[in-house]
Amino acid sequence: MPFCPNCHSERVIKNGSIHTGKQKYACKDCGRQFVENPQFRVISDETRALIDRLLPEQISLAGIARVAGVSETWLQTYVNKKYRSIPRKLRIRARKSAR
Ligand SMILES: [Zn+2]
Repeated sequence: MPFCPNCHSERVIKNGSIHTGKQKYACKDCGRQFVENPQFRVISDETRALIDRLLPEQISLAGIARVAGVSETWLQTYVNKKYRSIPRKLRIRARKSAR
């Protein structure tokens, strides 16, 4: 049995399967439902908010992935997408205005 990605409890029960046929699990301690393969797991808004708070800190991606309970691969993809979507409003002017 896998353990809970949320609270790391081992008190996990089988809980049906998702449409792709993958086994679904539910945590008896925190009620979290998840499938075994973390790559297909939906990352919650809470986790994304936590990551957004951690990113500006001097923490490695591996560290953030560990704290947030996501895979490094997922985190890397998330960060790439995030920084691509930030509009570049603060463009440096080519010429400085006259004093
Ligand atoms: Zn749990």
